[in-house]
Amino acid sequence: MPRYTAPTKDMQFILHDMLKVSTDATPGYAELDRDFTSAVLEEAGKLASEVLEPLNAVGDTEGCVLENGVVRTPKGFKAAFDQVREGGWTALDLPEEYGGQYMPYILGTAVGEMFSAANQAFTMYQGLTHGAASAILAHGTDEQKVKYLPNMASCEWTGTMNLTEPHCGTDLGLMRTKAEPQDDGSFKLTGQKIFISSGEHDMAENIIHLVLAKIPGGPEGIKGVSLFIVPKFIVNEDGSLGDRNGVTCGKIEDKMGIHGNSTCVMNYDGAKGWLLGQEHKGMRAMFTMMNEARIGVGMQGVAQAEVAYQNAVDYAKDRLQGRAVTGTENPDGPADPLIVHPDIRRNLMDQKSFTEGARAFLLWGSQMIDQSHRGGDEAAEGMVSLLTPVIKGFLTDEGYDMTVQAQQVYGGHGYIEEWGMSQFTRDARIAMIYEGANGVQALDLVGRKLAQDGGKHVMAFFDMVKEFCKTHGDNEAMAEFVDPLKTASKDLQSAGMFFMQNGMKNPNAALSGSNDFMHLFGHVCLGLMWAQMAKAAHEALAEGADDPDFYHTKLATARYYMTRRLPATSMHLARIESGADPVMALEADQF
Ligand SMILES: Cc1cc2nc3c(=O)[nH]c(=O)nc-3n(C[C@H](O)[C@H](O)[C@H](O)COP(=O)(O)OP(=O)(O)OC[C@H]3O[C@@H](n4cnc5c(N)ncnc54)[C@H](O)[C@@H]3O)c2cc1C
Repeated sequence: MPRYTAPTKDMQFILHDMLKVSTDATPGYAELDRDFTSAVLEEAGKLASEVLEPLNAVGDTEGCVLENGVVRTPKGFKAAFDQVREGGWTALDLPEEYGGQYMPYILGTAVGEMFSAANQAFTMYQGLTHGAASAILAHGTDEQKVKYLPNMASCEWTGTMNLTEPHCGTDLGLMRTKAEPQDDGSFKLTGQKIFISSGEHDMAENIIHLVLAKIPGGPEGIKGVSLFIVPKFIVNEDGSLGDRNGVTCGKIEDKMGIHGNSTCVMNYDGAKGWLLGQEHKGMRAMFTMMNEARIGVGMQGVAQAEVAYQNAVDYAKDRLQGRAVTGTENPDGPADPLIVHPDIRRNLMDQKSFTEGARAFLLWGSQMIDQSHRGGDEAAEGMVSLLTPVIKGFLTDEGYDMTVQAQQVYGGHGYIEEWGMSQFTRDARIAMIYEGANGVQALDLVGRKLAQDGGKHVMAFFDMVKEFCKTHGDNEAMAEFVDPLKTASKDLQSAGMFFMQNGMKNPNAALSGSNDFMHLFGHVCLGLMWAQMAKAAHEALAEGADDPDFYHTKLATARYYMTRRLPATSMHLARIESGADPVMALEADQF
């Protein structure tokens, strides 16, 4: 059976050697010293590997069952959910006044990666609740915050996000669910939402649905969408639970992965709801938490890649097949382990260099979220906004690919269910689709984020890379990292220039290259992360680190990324510069 060991040492390296969190002036960061973060990460890692991981396969094989309107989650989920709740893991970063611990978001990201790697389907119940609670925190009235947040912080009540309808997922302006105003200030919601994660289940007393709907007579399209709080059980003035509301689960979807999470068709039959935020500003309310939610989904890509990688390494060391071309390495056995073969090494190095680089990218993004939310840093806010589609799209596309590579190490045993490798691939696949499909992330990056605020944020990104290269360019030991980063960054700038010169006259020229641009950008970001990690590793070695092997391994992995993965930027640039013609050459009826 698969195993999961939390990568706490790598997380500590990123937090302290690379990001130097405890010297960051952001409020709340001073307490993030090595001992404190180690205590939190070790404890979370134990819970992940001992409680959540053993339920991963159970959730996959049992799935959720709908019986008489109630969804039964897989055996063991409820007890584990209680344990996570009781341990205080459900609201690490929410404010203390609502029952959270107000720890920095960066720590929540690290813990979230562990929980998600151990059991993505399970962790989604808590993740969706966090998303809904963040929306109430940002847009709710004081009364709504007091009424809902403490029980959501503790996950006594869970939350959902209801956007999708049968005829619209990306183009939400087409939405039909309607919300009619009532004399008592509430709204009556009628319509159907589909694919709602954690929509109905047996692990919480109440479920707080956040639902997008249109108030009749409002503006057409997306401008007429408002956001509503629709509890499964109406919450009385004294906080007790009252009547069952008119919202029910009509069906749970039979799907490719994340079987332990209930994906529900939700029917709203005159359900009572309350406006969250302003009328017709529902998308804006949703978007304020989208950056976090999308970073959370990017994290799922990294998490599945990490757990798949760990198991692929074990298998490659254990499975005996063939002999090393350079001479027998296991003379007492009938064959050498898979790990002696260069192609298996390439495969494992792809995975290792992705997961560690991607983890650094996620944690750096999370640090900027803290700098923006806690420290009011507008530059950090702009940078996170620019990079969010890259984090979501690139990390989930690549994360999925890495789970496939890990399967490949197992040969046929990766394809059959017994070894558990196929679950990682199946579970990772959804992250490329929900929270805005990756094609739409690329569209957002090229069509909106590049030009946002006059291109200020992308210029700031280039300046940051340039500054790093300038500062470390004269350091001989860093040249092997700085030079490839410079080349890759130039490719990114050339691609941006191509869009500027061609995108206005022919928008198809820009959008035909949007997916390549998102990947090009992602590689440059990971190149930057690896260069920074190489710098941190050199510094630790110069200071006489206790575990030099760890830092030498970092440097070797950084070299791999720079030489074997980062050159992908030139291929993406060539594709982008080929413009729209090769992509749009055929008429629709020629397909
Ligand atoms: C397991 C699961 C869980 C989910 N959980 C939730 C949830 O909790 N809440 C919720 O509201 N929804 C949820 N969803 C829905 C999910 O967010 C949508 O499926 C997703 O946003 C895509 O919408 P769609 O399926 O309607 O595809 P469509 O919008 O029809 O898109 C189909 C394809 O076309 C592409 N596309 C669409 N428009 C454009 C364009 N303008 N330019 C280029 N390409 C375009 C998309 O990238 C996509 O690849 C879930 C879905 C699944 C499968």
